[in-house]
Amino acid sequence: MLNSAPQPDPYATLSDNLRWRVALVLGLLICVLMVTLALINRHLGLADTQRLAWISLAVATAAVCGLLLLPKRTGATLFFLAIAALLVLVPAYGFYHGRAMQYWAYVLPPLLIFLLRPGAALASMIAYGVYVSWITSLLLTPIEVIRFASGYGLTVCFMYTYALLQNHAARLLRFHSTHDALTNCLNRRTFNQAIAALDSQGSAGDRDLLLLDIDHFKEINDHHGHLVGDRVIAEVAQALSNNLRPGTPLYRYGGEEFAVIVPGEPDGSAADLPEQLRLAIERADCQGLKVTISVGVARWHIGLEKPEAALQRADDALYLAKRSGRNRVMSESPRERSNLRPNESEVGANPPAAA
Ligand code: GH3
Ligand code: MG
Ligand code: MG
Repeated sequence: MLNSAPQPDPYATLSDNLRWRVALVLGLLICVLMVTLALINRHLGLADTQRLAWISLAVATAAVCGLLLLPKRTGATLFFLAIAALLVLVPAYGFYHGRAMQYWAYVLPPLLIFLLRPGAALASMIAYGVYVSWITSLLLTPIEVIRFASGYGLTVCFMYTYALLQNHAARLLRFHSTHDALTNCLNRRTFNQAIAALDSQGSAGDRDLLLLDIDHFKEINDHHGHLVGDRVIAEVAQALSNNLRPGTPLYRYGGEEFAVIVPGEPDGSAADLPEQLRLAIERADCQGLKVTISVGVARWHIGLEKPEAALQRADDALYLAKRSGRNRVMSESPRERSNLRPNESEVGANPPAAA
């Protein structure tokens, strides 16, 4: 059963939720820390750093309120931006009062990783490191500045490496959760999400749903083995992809079954595609075997009907193509079928049953 609710990218949703939670925990920790620091500074009679702690508390409290009141993604981004701005302010404030505040600089690199892509985060970390080194060099001895810059530089290296690894892992995870391992086509989950997204748009225009199934595939497995069967599926997928326009996705719908969604052009141009795909497989050399496909086509009137209804009609048309002798295209409606060009020799020998 298809879920017709809008389907945002699951990885992006997970990442937004995690970022928001991390921001909330950090925000509360910063608030507690700033109250503690303000009280300690008051006890020590340090009025300027006590004031800085209260300012930081006010910024952190406002950022936490933003987290709770705004949408998660916006709230978290504003939170990290507010804390980053605070970290830029702290060394300048320290310099104004004659205090080097370089130890707070170590907080910014991990924070930038939450906020920016690795390349932009690295550039910002380096710029911030230069800024803090410069401002503290006005107050500290050269060796103290070198010590700070060395520690900060190592922190940046580790954070950047971590961000690159994390990015690479996320890309791999995203690819494997959306693609099929044998054919590298998009998988059934992605097909369901694409259908649900179109369904939720409502008036996105009609679509043609194509279901393409390899004929007598079980015989290929039985006579040549599953390994050859696997290669045939992969080569059929490749041949189908080669005959689709760039940007038209091919989905592996089931074992030896594929699906394509194309705009339902009123001039009938989309109706040429199923026959082109059928011919492409008929002419392709898949492991030296003669392989054919049957194709079922249905027009999905988005907004007027549920996708399940159109998919059922495409499946019925595919079933009809199989019953009519295979290696042919069948469309659900007589009008659309007249736009298609079924394999005439076979139709003549074995005329399709009425839809
Ligand atoms: P039809 O023309 O009616 O579609 O007949 P068919 O033999 O193609 O269809 P059937 O449903 O009887 O058999 C499909 C076979 O495809 C059964 C299943 O073992 C095989 N199959 C499904 N997925 C894979 C796969 O990933 N690799 C291999 N080698 N075989 C697969
Ligand atoms: Mg089959
Ligand atoms: Mg099948």
